Amino acid sequence: MDQVDVLVIGAGVVGLAVARALALSGREVLVIEREAGIGMGTSSRNSEVIHAGIYYPAGSLKAQLCVRGRELLYAYCSARGIAHRRCGKLIVAHTPSQVAGLPGILAKAHANGVDDLVRLTAAEAQSLEERLHCAAALLSPSTGIVDSHGLMLALQGDLENAGGMVVCHTAVEEVVSTSGRFVVRTADGTELSAATVVNAAGLDACALARRTIGLDLMHVPRAWYAKGNYFTLAAGRSPFDRLVYPAPEPAQHLAGLGVHLTIDLGGQAKFGPDVQWTEDPQDLEVDPARGDAFYAEVRKYWPELPDGALLPGYAGMRPKINGPDEPAADFRVDGPTVHGVPGLVNLFGIESPGLTSCLAIAERVERLLR
Ligand SMILES: Cc1cc2nc3c(=O)[nH]c(=O)nc-3n(C[C@H](O)[C@H](O)[C@H](O)COP(=O)(O)OP(=O)(O)OC[C@H]3O[C@@H](n4cnc5c(N)ncnc54)[C@H](O)[C@@H]3O)c2cc1C
Repeated sequence: MDQVDVLVIGAGVVGLAVARALALSGREVLVIEREAGIGMGTSSRNSEVIHAGIYYPAGSLKAQLCVRGRELLYAYCSARGIAHRRCGKLIVAHTPSQVAGLPGILAKAHANGVDDLVRLTAAEAQSLEERLHCAAALLSPSTGIVDSHGLMLALQGDLENAGGMVVCHTAVEEVVSTSGRFVVRTADGTELSAATVVNAAGLDACALARRTIGLDLMHVPRAWYAKGNYFTLAAGRSPFDRLVYPAPEPAQHLAGLGVHLTIDLGGQAKFGPDVQWTEDPQDLEVDPARGDAFYAEVRKYWPELPDGALLPGYAGMRPKINGPDEPAADFRVDGPTVHGVPGLVNLFGIESPGLTSCLAIAERVERLLR
């Protein structure tokens, strides 16, 4: 049986970042990926936004890892020439309750160490974005966008330069914890022995953890799936230079951040993602009928959106570990102190801001396993 020091399951942005960090710390690392290439899961179906870290509960892993991850990511992108832009974002309020909620957002951001939000009147916001309609807004200068594929290629490059490897077309079927090591069985019947296993399987992380023999199932949360649909602007170019997010209604349980406008690095606009809970994580078709609700949401901040301007785009699937009526769960980076299995780390619920946080999650996993 082939032996390896560290086996990372899943070559999304998080698995690659973790593998890179462990390889740079001097460990021998193999990444196993079920698909034909890296980043073919949620990591290529998102908004590509570098989040500032505003909304997450103070002290949560999402807050800590987003704020730390954002700084690490900007530095990494600059050092490695990965396309990115610190374009900023406007959080726009329309209703009296949204306006009344803005100081709460400022306070939440402050508690998370995000001190650069600027409060704007409607006129100040419109001086930045003349087509914008709002009653008041917040400007987040440290929000940006990144080329997620360029990022993943750079992470893979670093991993390989440090002696690590990614093997695609290989699905892990089962992980067996035995005598302080793991036997990892793949779909073609191959067995590998590993000292350390990191489960970064994204949407399948909970299912894979259930197939980890030796792990008590009480440490595996139930998986839920919330699809996020995007619509693109037929005319292409964005009418705004900054990202535009609706302010949340203060009492809202957030499963997403509202139908926002994001811009890609080519200046094209897209709207979304909405929230559509589903039982089927493979269901990534965008139903054109959902467009009606998008027109209504987008026209709250861009009333001039013409009829027929939106085209169905793509969808991504959120790997949730809370149901529709429950408060948003935190990221789970479960190491041996949580579940008692030496050498095993399970990553659960790595939804947004997982892209922003990838380097900070990697740092945390590397420390857990040191
Ligand atoms: C709609 C949407 C919008 C988002 N927008 C943002 C954003 O703007 N900013 C942000 O910071 N975050 C955002 N996110 C979150 C971000 O995309 C994710 O947190 C991140 O991509 C998760 O990466 P990952 O590596 O954990 O998972 P994935 O990218 O899903 O990678 C997991 C990999 O594991 C592989 N795999 C699964 N099972 C097995 C197995 N048994 N054997 C081998 N391989 C296996 C899969 O094929 C996949 O490649 C968004 C998410 C969604 C859904």
